[in-house]
Amino acid sequence: MIGAARTSLAIGDKAIAAKCAKHGTQLDLRPTITEFNRSFINNRIEDEHLVRRIFSQCKMANEYSCFSIYEGMFFRCSVAPFARERLRMAGIEFPGPEVDGIQIHGNPHLGAEIEARVKSKEPLKACSYCLGSSGPMVAHRQVNRQAGKAWLEEDNRADIAFARRNLRRQAVDRWLHGPVTILLLPAFFALTTTPSPGRS
Ligand code: SF4
Repeated sequence: MIGAARTSLAIGDKAIAAKCAKHGTQLDLRPTITEFNRSFINNRIEDEHLVRRIFSQCKMANEYSCFSIYEGMFFRCSVAPFARERLRMAGIEFPGPEVDGIQIHGNPHLGAEIEARVKSKEPLKACSYCLGSSGPMVAHRQVNRQAGKAWLEEDNRADIAFARRNLRRQAVDRWLHGPVTILLLPAFFALTTTPSPGRS
């Protein structure tokens, strides 16, 4: 089976469906994706606690298991391998991908190291410049040279503030829908709706 998200495919839906039918493949076409989370940014996130919260809720590193392999190294997400290159374009110095990668070749402890990395609660070095999946949604678009330059010079402090609020909202939401709250709610309502002796 093939699951496909529509973005800007050069081939139409019908043509894809026909090809899949010809080869006995089930096709699951998803709605058009027009927005992505703003993740990698130009401003360093100075608040270590916020970096940890962003990482702990990062869908790429956790829910989606969006692991990647680049230059002979394994990475917990698909953003970290390109952190230095992306920041270099913005004139910001950052260490090479090896700070977040695990060497694959000739590594006798590869399995154990990968297992430890995918279970780790420690943010990657790249997380200090990344909002993961907590940043604002932005419409994807092609940019010309001028818009690309503006993107590299963008001040992302407002996006960091957005991620902070977003994480707070998510935490409240999890608390409201968490098992303890659900168990306690009936008791809470019983207490607040019990008629007082003098009013029955
Ligand atoms: S760099 Fe960190 S926050 Fe960004 S996608 Fe990777 S794990 Fe998530």
